[in-house]
Amino acid sequence: MKKTLMPEWLPYALLALASVALALIAGWSSYGERINRNFLDLYFRQRGPQPAASADHDIVIVALDDATLARFGALPLPRSVLAQAIRTILNSQPRLLAVDLILSDASAADSDQSLAAALRSSRPVVLATALETAPGGRWLNPLPDFSSVSAAIGHVHADPDPDGVNRRILLAKQGGRERYWALALESYRLLQGSSPPLITETNDDLVVAGPAAPGTEVHIPARRNDERSLWINFAGGNDTFPQISLTSLMDQDVHAALRDKIVFLGVTAQGAGDRLFTPFSSGLGMPGVEIHSNALHTLLSGKFLLPAAPSAVLLALFFISLLTAASLAWLHGPRLAIALAVIGVAVLAAPYLLFLQGSIWPGFLLLGQWVTASAACGSYRLLVVGRKLSESEIRRRRSQQQFEMAAHEIRSPLMAIQGSSELLQRYHLDDAKREQMTGLIFQESQRMGRLVERFLSAERLTAGEMELRPAPLNLPALAATVVDQLRAAADRKSIQLHCSANGVESEINADRELLEMAIYNLLTNAIKYCPSGSAVDLILDQNPKGIAVQVADNGPGMDKEECRHIFDRFYRTDTAQRSGAPGYGLGLFIAREIALHHGGDLTVESSLGAGSRFTIYLPCGISEGRT
Ligand code: ADP
Repeated sequence: MKKTLMPEWLPYALLALASVALALIAGWSSYGERINRNFLDLYFRQRGPQPAASADHDIVIVALDDATLARFGALPLPRSVLAQAIRTILNSQPRLLAVDLILSDASAADSDQSLAAALRSSRPVVLATALETAPGGRWLNPLPDFSSVSAAIGHVHADPDPDGVNRRILLAKQGGRERYWALALESYRLLQGSSPPLITETNDDLVVAGPAAPGTEVHIPARRNDERSLWINFAGGNDTFPQISLTSLMDQDVHAALRDKIVFLGVTAQGAGDRLFTPFSSGLGMPGVEIHSNALHTLLSGKFLLPAAPSAVLLALFFISLLTAASLAWLHGPRLAIALAVIGVAVLAAPYLLFLQGSIWPGFLLLGQWVTASAACGSYRLLVVGRKLSESEIRRRRSQQQFEMAAHEIRSPLMAIQGSSELLQRYHLDDAKREQMTGLIFQESQRMGRLVERFLSAERLTAGEMELRPAPLNLPALAATVVDQLRAAADRKSIQLHCSANGVESEINADRELLEMAIYNLLTNAIKYCPSGSAVDLILDQNPKGIAVQVADNGPGMDKEECRHIFDRFYRTDTAQRSGAPGYGLGLFIAREIALHHGGDLTVESSLGAGSRFTIYLPCGISEGRT
């Protein structure tokens, strides 16, 4: 027979799903996003600096540092000094020079001429441009004399996240009608030796053409709908790339240090303010020129960082949540502790390991998922364990109570049997006395048998051990049999017992023995509690929904509160107890269990002084109910 109970794992599964929703809300809130980004910064620091993989990728920064400012005064640097520095750098034969300085203002004509002359070189030079910060601002492009001799112009905008940390740059920046690639990207293109069309775009990538040979193009992941932003795979914190102070260019031979290097020229002086925080920063920001160097380092290394697809993240959340819930639903003791710890460690470690492979996962969200699923399913488990404990305590107390009651109830017939058999054994009694004694022994042993049978039935029914054996049976005939069994008892109290069957089909499918017990219990109660001379009716009724077996009497009845407890085990009303009528408070409990086992129910309508009507409802065509 089918169990209609909810499977034990279902609440865990539902809680697991609900906790996914909760973790999503927490993890994708602005606060959650922020912590996710902090987790990413942690991965950077955990990984530590990552030097360039090849000497071709060596980047050197020529810095307008504090020593430079101390020597040449505040920014901007005199053009003649700048011209001299650039001439020195380019004479050292670097692979490329990227100038992270805005050269949009004219100064003295001869200084500008000398700078333009310095920029004219066989080595590629990339100059910087930036959009004025004011709304509708113009591009601060290098003077035409400079741009005409440069190999490319790239923008030097950084793109800090809302928490002020710079983790990405926009590879393309639009301002008005003009659009510029980033300084780092232009540098990369020149280093690649791209031949036209140089940089092409797809939805997901920027494609940088290689040297003339086909198939050498490089795909840079920078989605169009993500403003072509590139996650910078920072090589390290401040000063990861070697730096040479601009002042040393004036006094020392830097030829060897710059030869065949990629040289960035930019401001690093602390007072200049061009600094932004990066995942490696602690207190001191990183100069813009180092950020651009890091962006180029990312492009050159090809170790791109890509955020995981939202669908993959969602899948991971479900996986974590269901795994946690399954552990809590099925494991116990040390195994459970180990499973939860393993999941927790995996959830902490996996995003870091994936980061090392170039994939950005929301670490906080994943960890949060593990925490919420553990908390939700763990609390539910505590609740269930607590409930089971208290249920088993109630069961223990009840069986103790039952045991005491059984012992007490069995004692009186036992004593009667003992007393009578002793009399029979000791004395020579006359026939009439002997008959009386044996009759008493028989009666009392029957009473004991009934009592034992009741206790066992109640136990077996509640434990689900009483198997239903449905078979076609004739209900009116069964009802008539029970009435016949009780006719003598009714007559003793001058109670009129009527039985009527209103169009009930002759055959129903039910367990004969159990159904007989249920009807018997209702009828004995009615006879037991009704005063002499009253009437008890057993009515069988049929409607489209099922069959109703009613036992109606005009006895003492019960109030609402009593009716509420009437089907509890061992419950007896005060009136019943005072009446002295024998009973254990089990008959109705058993009758109701039998009705429930048939897929039906037992109900009562009663009020004090106005009799009672008990109704067993049986669904039509009962084939199976509870076991
Ligand atoms: P008991 O062995 O006490 O009769 P039951 O479970 O059969 O146990 O009944 C529980 C209690 O319900 C009875 O003790 C009595 O108080 C009340 N009761 C049952 N049937 C009737 C009835 N027909 N009229 C009034 N009270 C009843």
